Amino acid sequence: MITEEKKEEKSLNFIEEIIDTDLQSGKYTRIITRFPPEPNGYLHIGHATSICLNFGLTKKFPGYTNLRFDDTNPVTEDTEFVENIKNDIRWLGFEWENEHYASDYFDVLYGYAIKLINEGLAYVDDSTSEEIATLKGTPTEPGKDSPYRNRSVEENLALFEQMKNGAFPDGSRTLRARIDMAHINMLMRDPILYRIKHAHHHRTGDKWCIYPMYDFAHGQSDAIETVTHSICTLEFAPHRELYDWLIEKLGIYTSHQYEFARRNLNYTVTSKRKLLQLVQEGHVSGWDDPRMPTISGMRRRGYTAFSIRDFCDRIGIAKRENIVDVGLLEFCVREDLNKQALRRMVVLDPLKVVITNFPEGVTEMCHSENNPEDISTGNRDIPFSREIFIEKEDFMETPSKKYFRLAPGKMVRLKGAYIIQCDDFVKDENGEITEVRCTYIENSKSGQDTTGINVKGTLHWVSVAHALEVEVRLYDRLFSVEDPSSEDGDFKDYLNADSLHIITGYAEPALLEASEGESFQFLRKGYFAKDPDSTAEKLVFNRTATLRDNWAKTAN
Ligand code: ATP
Ligand code: MG
Repeated sequence: MITEEKKEEKSLNFIEEIIDTDLQSGKYTRIITRFPPEPNGYLHIGHATSICLNFGLTKKFPGYTNLRFDDTNPVTEDTEFVENIKNDIRWLGFEWENEHYASDYFDVLYGYAIKLINEGLAYVDDSTSEEIATLKGTPTEPGKDSPYRNRSVEENLALFEQMKNGAFPDGSRTLRARIDMAHINMLMRDPILYRIKHAHHHRTGDKWCIYPMYDFAHGQSDAIETVTHSICTLEFAPHRELYDWLIEKLGIYTSHQYEFARRNLNYTVTSKRKLLQLVQEGHVSGWDDPRMPTISGMRRRGYTAFSIRDFCDRIGIAKRENIVDVGLLEFCVREDLNKQALRRMVVLDPLKVVITNFPEGVTEMCHSENNPEDISTGNRDIPFSREIFIEKEDFMETPSKKYFRLAPGKMVRLKGAYIIQCDDFVKDENGEITEVRCTYIENSKSGQDTTGINVKGTLHWVSVAHALEVEVRLYDRLFSVEDPSSEDGDFKDYLNADSLHIITGYAEPALLEASEGESFQFLRKGYFAKDPDSTAEKLVFNRTATLRDNWAKTAN
């Protein structure tokens, strides 16, 4: 699946082909696209695909991209969401040409509605929503005309004005386009253009109590902004006919709608409505919980903007919906962080090692490269002393043949420091190993000549006396099934109860200099980013991804 799409990415995708043809033919000399979020939640990874597509097109071809808030639904929208959406788009690395709001066009849209009424193309309907639904028919049966369909233009104009002036309660009347109640496309059976909603709007306040429907705002906003290629997801394909009809009847700029398949990730949900439930019901700590597939959650988790753009590029766009493996996203972030992240040693599950031939109370400075992938980052100092921590899993009392870590009589290299040999170990009354006793080999420090000593394993370690206690948050998938939305019952029944483990890690002191959000590779453990919950007393790190590359293995 992925291999096929990788091939696609080399040539133009189908939308780029359309644009290329339009520019070649001289239909346009430049294009205008828009990214049109509804400010009713935070952006998620699905939106990132749409952002990369819309902004990417005008990087590739002459033209520009607008940001337009599709804010026609006062009840669910909020300025908090507007600000966060803007922040997320900028963080992803894109800048819009103009910032628009569908609500800025409410006056113009009202004028358009009057025009349709005057031309006999719209009418005020007093039917209830149930009555409208009953008269609508079914895909195989034509609908029936509303008893209000043949009102005079004058009566319609008067009623519509009264609707606007607040004379009627919510839901008591609508304005509908007068198209064809027998139309094969159900959306063309006199669609609702305006509804009454006495609600406070985040920008227009209480000025309006009637609000345009999506279909009477989206295409019109596109036309007002002279958007050339209006790209949306597949579920809007049946709306295209209405989009074109309204533009034609209003005689406004002819924007064109094109559809591509939604991109969904496995083991999560990409729907603002569902993500909102997770936030409101406390299943996560907020929109930016590092387990969330939101841009802000991923940023906090340690994802880089580049890795998200790279992911969107790799999956490309398609005409058929499919679910993308989250492993690909992890692959992208590993690739990027491997190049950039500084290396640090942090022991997550400590076992004490005493180096019996190293003097007590002495600290020796060792050195190791900050990032072997980027030598310009130089070396760092790492204090070494008589007592160190290693990972519990790096010691085995009776090792198997292929075990190259520490075991009685065996030698390992301590990263950036000496080769040590295990002489003995101590067990407590429960049989748990509590301490390992080793001797270090003089002149075996990294960089020194150790010819003749055959050591296969290199371990990370931290000096006990110098170790920083840090909080480490280990994340797993938020859901335990691939597609929680398609399972029986509520999607929240499939939340992974084990998606967060908080542990204490022991870090080398260089980690103290970490800045907020900075990413590190904890040697042999994975990529971790400093969380904003960190204080001067306690550093907190989020695991972005483990080091193991599961995705590459399954793809080959
Ligand atoms: P949600 O169901 O999460 O609220 P939406 O489509 O209603 O999604 P909008 O704010 O209306 O969210 O979306 C802004 C733009 O992002 C639209 O053009 C929409 O088609 C696109 N988009 C949203 N979700 C995805 C997705 N999963 N994949 C690709 N594009 C998406
Ligand atoms: Mg929407």
